[in-house]
Amino acid sequence: MGDTVFVLVLNAGSSSLKFNLFDMAKETSLAEGMAERIGLGEANLTSTIEGNKHRETLPLPTHKEALEAILEQLRATVLHETPIHAVGHRVVHGGPKYGDSVLVTDEVLQDIDHFAMYAPLHNPANALGIRTAMAAFPNVPHVAVFDTAFHHNIPDHARIYGIPYEISQKYGIRRYGFHGSSHSYVAARTAILLCRPLRALKIVTCHIGNGTSICAVHNGKSVDTSMGMTPLQGVIMGTRCGTIDPSVVEMLMEYEHLDYNGITDLLNKKSGLLGISGVSSDFREIERAAEQGNDRARLARDLLTYNVRQYIGAYATVLDGVDAITFTAGIGTHSTFVRAKVCSKLSFLGVKLDHEANEHGTGERIISTPDSRVTVTVVPTNEELMIARETVR
Ligand code: ADP
Repeated sequence: MGDTVFVLVLNAGSSSLKFNLFDMAKETSLAEGMAERIGLGEANLTSTIEGNKHRETLPLPTHKEALEAILEQLRATVLHETPIHAVGHRVVHGGPKYGDSVLVTDEVLQDIDHFAMYAPLHNPANALGIRTAMAAFPNVPHVAVFDTAFHHNIPDHARIYGIPYEISQKYGIRRYGFHGSSHSYVAARTAILLCRPLRALKIVTCHIGNGTSICAVHNGKSVDTSMGMTPLQGVIMGTRCGTIDPSVVEMLMEYEHLDYNGITDLLNKKSGLLGISGVSSDFREIERAAEQGNDRARLARDLLTYNVRQYIGAYATVLDGVDAITFTAGIGTHSTFVRAKVCSKLSFLGVKLDHEANEHGTGERIISTPDSRVTVTVVPTNEELMIARETVR
């Protein structure tokens, strides 16, 4: 037991709390799961602990009870008498200030609260998760790991918006980017798959899940990314609109009589794959409906793959060439269709997909042919492990 380092990773949403317990001496996950529907009557607690699945339905009025229920399960199974040595927290927005992970202090918590101005759907829940865990574990270090940090040093010209400069400066309005733990993890794994140093590679990483972002990674550093000041910009997503003409917002507010909450809800929760297809935000259901001939599902699917291809083309220019393209997250890891469709018109870059490897392989792998000028990889992401590593660092 002497050399174990147990790190609990928490990812708090407004009504959910995801957890992952790592033994960092071996970098293995001992337990993972999540409490859902917190504060909404009967809540669900599902977990996988040392390979065994557990599921409970119980009232969890607040995040405090959710964390207590999680800890009770862990103590009855993997944790026993072993203490948790540190807690790593996923925090969506680090604002202009945080370009790296930090030890949580009162000041850091106040900043996370403040940066809710950029991430109103995420930062308040993240801060609540941190406060709850700090009350439960007052004597261990808590570390905030920001989704934005990986993109902190993208060049000014790639992050400025074309609005009056004084206003950008006053409010910190600029591109921040998200999914940083994922992009940095899959870029590093891709370098390993290529047996080449990360610092010598130009990689386009495609995180395609409920939320989608594309990133241009040069020498291991993010130099551009598709999401913006908030996670709404870029490629269309499950329920988010992606990039639209800002005038659409003004027009909808006027003609649909929408206030701030109404327009925020429409663009974040009713748009994207769901809004276009009218079927679902879940890509598996979109694929099924498209195969059955549903035209709007096809349109949603086609727009997603088109957007991803557009960004790869743009980032080939940003990077002045591409060594590798990496697919990750729920859709990127699992949809053979999306990968094939995206790669189908990248022959100008020298991409040659190995269709056998694309369709029949599993897990982390190369899916381009040996003579492809650009190596295409699939790397299942592991944001939780990155957060645990950052916490230890
Ligand atoms: P989140 O952003 O919530 O972490 P994920 O990365 O888990 O999301 O991605 C969820 C998306 O992945 C959903 O749209 C889901 O339908 C899609 N997905 C999961 N498995 C598959 C699959 N086998 N084929 C196609 N899409 C899939």
